[in-house]
Amino acid sequence: MKKMKVFLDLDGTLHDSHSFWFKASKTAVNAMLANGLDQYSDFNKAFGKLEEIYSREANSAEHYDLLVKALVPLAKRRGKSFDKIVSAGVNAFKEVKHDGESFKPNPHVVDFLTWAKANGVELFLVTSGIRRKQWDKLHRLGLSDFFDEEHVLTTGDVGFFKGISRYVRPLVRRPLIGLKNHLFYGYVLRKTKSKPEDVLMVGDNEKNDIIPANKRGISTIRFFAGKYGNHEVNTMGTYSATNFKEVKQIVKRHFEL
Ligand SMILES: [Mg+2]
Repeated sequence: MKKMKVFLDLDGTLHDSHSFWFKASKTAVNAMLANGLDQYSDFNKAFGKLEEIYSREANSAEHYDLLVKALVPLAKRRGKSFDKIVSAGVNAFKEVKHDGESFKPNPHVVDFLTWAKANGVELFLVTSGIRRKQWDKLHRLGLSDFFDEEHVLTTGDVGFFKGISRYVRPLVRRPLIGLKNHLFYGYVLRKTKSKPEDVLMVGDNEKNDIIPANKRGISTIRFFAGKYGNHEVNTMGTYSATNFKEVKQIVKRHFEL
């Protein structure tokens, strides 16, 4: 029987991670300001710094500690604890995440996954980040039942260094998260015992999901939504879709289902 495998990106594809992050982070920064951070910063400065920190280390558990460090001068930090501020931020973020409204799958995702499973399409999550964190998101999104443990492949599993000089590496304490580059897709193909021609990759990021997968001979669907949803941007993807109804149609056609 013909093998049919779909590799799925998580953030920005199965859910609108950017909109959620924006909402939760705004709430968190406001909570931190209300708990004493306002002595050192206003909202715009704090939020801008937080965006900067996130873009540098998307998976750190210590974003708010880093934020306090960035906003409070060293001389004023001595002998002080900022736990009230940091935990206020952490709690506010979690509250938004757990409000049952803000953190949910994109439209038609559940329908697509259910249909794929019922029709013999194997589903894999091919994602950038720390494994435990990505599983946490799958549970929170209510999507964990669609994926077996070994069907979730994260860059955190392999830790390819992303442009970090070897002189700096020993100084970095947190786990290094690799890029979804062609090396990673090679690893994923080997690990899942997949031939490129049996696979369709779906992702919202041209650089991480489309180009390196193409390079491995994998057919791709560029998902235009959320942060990278600008329809004017060209894609190297084999196909493109703007929602999961379209993804389903493409998968159907591609595998002649
Ligand atoms: Mg993505």
